[in-house]
Order: sequence, then structure tokens, then C-alpha cells
Amino acid sequence: MINPWSSSQYFDYEKLIREFGIDKPNDYFDYFMFRRKLIFGQRGLDYLEYAIKNGMEFNAMTGLMPSGHMHLGNKLTIDQIIYFQSLGAEVYIAVADLESYATRGISFERAREIAINEYIANYISMGLKPCKIYFQSENFDTQSLAFILSNGTNMNELKAIYGLTDSSSMLHVNSPIIQAADVLHTQMRHLGGPKPTIVPVGVDQDPHIRLMRDLAKRLRIYSIKPDHGKISIFIKGTDNPERYINEAMEELSSKGYECSPNYEYRAIYIKNSKEEERIKIDMILARLEGKFNEYTFIEPSATFQKLETGLRGGKMSSSVPDSLISLNDSPADATRKIKHAVTGGRQTVEEQKKLGGNPDICPVFELYKYHSSDDKYVSRVYEECIGGVRMCGACKSEAAQNISKFLKNLAEKKDESLRKMDDYLIKRSS
Ligand code: SF4
Repeated sequence: MINPWSSSQYFDYEKLIREFGIDKPNDYFDYFMFRRKLIFGQRGLDYLEYAIKNGMEFNAMTGLMPSGHMHLGNKLTIDQIIYFQSLGAEVYIAVADLESYATRGISFERAREIAINEYIANYISMGLKPCKIYFQSENFDTQSLAFILSNGTNMNELKAIYGLTDSSSMLHVNSPIIQAADVLHTQMRHLGGPKPTIVPVGVDQDPHIRLMRDLAKRLRIYSIKPDHGKISIFIKGTDNPERYINEAMEELSSKGYECSPNYEYRAIYIKNSKEEERIKIDMILARLEGKFNEYTFIEPSATFQKLETGLRGGKMSSSVPDSLISLNDSPADATRKIKHAVTGGRQTVEEQKKLGGNPDICPVFELYKYHSSDDKYVSRVYEECIGGVRMCGACKSEAAQNISKFLKNLAEKKDESLRKMDDYLIKRSS
């Protein structure tokens, strides 16, 4: 069972792919996190690829919990968001102030201060362009949509997905629904209607992704099914299927498809379709359906990134401050933490020279691998380590210099980023 509240770490990513039906990414996205397999899995990324290839609009969505400080491990999600924004995504970011109030007792006012100063200012300094950042407590769309979505699931399903029990807190019941509403509301009619939406997450968030994808599917009237190499469409949840069959036939015919209806089975068979056209046909029908079904959503896509190891080995945890580098750390603090980090090095310099180190288990190597976009540089560090040319002391100093430069740059840009805040925060919805 993987769930967002477990404290366990999961390093057997191949097993996760096998057991949870997560797909591997293909090589369409030329970004260092894909190239280095830091993004090890995905769901529905073909929708995003289709949108980009066909010049269509798409969204990128993430959230932040306003508590504590942002650290290097959180940075990876924002790196991806900035990458997808560079490809044309409309970016939405939810500040989970309802959750921080419920779980940590943080007032909305304090959550706002933390979100702006500790997170959003850093996002802007890292290169995030103007986008739509909102506070859950102020967003009527997400609250009303959460109410609608809660009608599409039940306790048995939540127990099966999350391992909830009868004594689980209602927060754990509500939280996945609110997160689904955060993601899906970006496709509401007044925000441009149904669009592919990418959500970069750690694998512990997969249960949320599965649930929101299922909920999106359940609210659709048109259900697209591959059928013996072709595509068939089924009409769900309406007492007037003829109307929706006729609307879809008219739309698909205008796009060159030959359709044959079966009113008894509430179905349309597309004679000249191919299975590979599933996304194209789904997008055509989602746009049509969006005109008469206010809650038409394309199943959100997700990328799953590997979890960065803590500097002390194991998980990065704010309860062990030396396990992570906060983006508020001074270069001196960051350097001290890196100098004390565990490594994949040998016991002695002689052994290291003779046998080489093991970068594959080294958190210091991860600082290079996760936070430098220069492939050649990272490969060189790797080769030098396994070849016994690189010693851990010097390697740590070099990593510390790189991270210190990054932190210094963020600190220098902070005031300017804070001044730009109005270009990012959206006003309370009425
Ligand atoms: S040389 Fe660097 S990468 Fe290799 S084990 Fe030591 S610290 Fe890690």
C-alpha cells in the first residue's frame, strides 16, 4: 500500500511500476529529469504530448503546503512546473492553507505569509513566469467542485485506495477529494474548459492521482473505448442518450469520421477510426461535452519523480534538519550539512583510489544529479567517482560550492521576486 501519509520510502521503482500499473515515460520530453530517469514513471503523459504536438492548450498544476521551509527536495516539482510552463502550460498552484490549518493549526494569515515568503518568492526567483496561484480557503470553485466530486466516491473505495479504516480522521477522507478538486477545477468552463493537465508528483501521491483520474472519468458522458482496433463510444449517466449520440455523430462526422449508432446499447462505432486515435477522439468529444456538461474533465496526467535521499541517508525530513538543505539556509549552513553528509565512498583514500566510490548510493552525488542540468558535468562526476579519481572531501566541497551559489542567487533575487507577487496571486473568487 502506498499512500501520502506513510513515512516509508520506496526505492524499488521497477516494482512500483509493475505493481501499480504506472507507465514508463517515453523519450519525447527532452528534459534532464526525464533523461536521467529522475522521472521514473507517468500516467497519461501521452495527452500532454498530443496537446504539444498539435499546438493545443494544456495546464500544469501543483500545490504547496504552507508550513516550514521549502527545501531542495521540494524544488524538483517546481523545476518540472517551470519546464512545462516553458512548453506552453498554463500553470496553477494551490496553496493548501485549509490543510495546514487542519493539520498544523496554522492560521490563514500566517499560511499566506509562509506561502509568499518561503515558497512563491523562491519559485519566482527560480524562473517561474506569471501564473495562477490561489489559496484553497478563498477558492469557491474548488470548494464547490469538491462537494460535487464527493458524490462520485464512497468509503469502500477510499479504504481500498488509501488503507483508511473506520477510525481514520475525516481529514484523510476529505483531503483526497479536495486535492482532486484543486487539479480538476483548472478545466472548468470559465477557465477554458477541458484540457490535458499535468501534475508532477512523488510516487507517494499516486493514490491521489488514481482517484482524481477515476473521478474525471466518472463525470464524463462520453466514454471512449478501444474496440478490436477501432474506437467505440458509450453514453453514460443520462436518460436522453439519443441526444448525446446525435451530437457526437454530428461532431465526429464533421471531422471525417464515419459513425454508426446503436441506440439500444447507447453506443457509437467509428468505422474508420484506429485505436491510436483514442486521444484525438477523446479531445474532440471532451470539447463538445464541455458545452453541455459543466463538469467535463480530461483525466489528469502525472509524472512521478524519485525521492531525493536525505544527506544523512534515508528520508529527507524536517524533523532532522541536517538531512536536508532548506532554501533559506545560508551558504555556510549548507556547506556544513554537505560536509557531514554520508557518501558512497570507501573507508580510506587508498581504497577509494583503487576501487572507486559508489555514486549510486551517495546523497552527495544526488546533489549533482538532481540539481545540475548539465549532463556532461554530471557524467564526469560519476565517472571520476567510480574510476577512483574523485575523493569524497573534494567532491563535497565542489557540491557545496554549487549549492551555495544557487542559494546566494535565490537570496539576492528575493526582494525583486516579492515585488512581482501581484502577477502571480489570483484574487478571491466570488
Ligand atoms: S566521490 Fe563524491 S560522488 Fe563519489 S562517493 Fe564520494 S562524495 Fe559520493
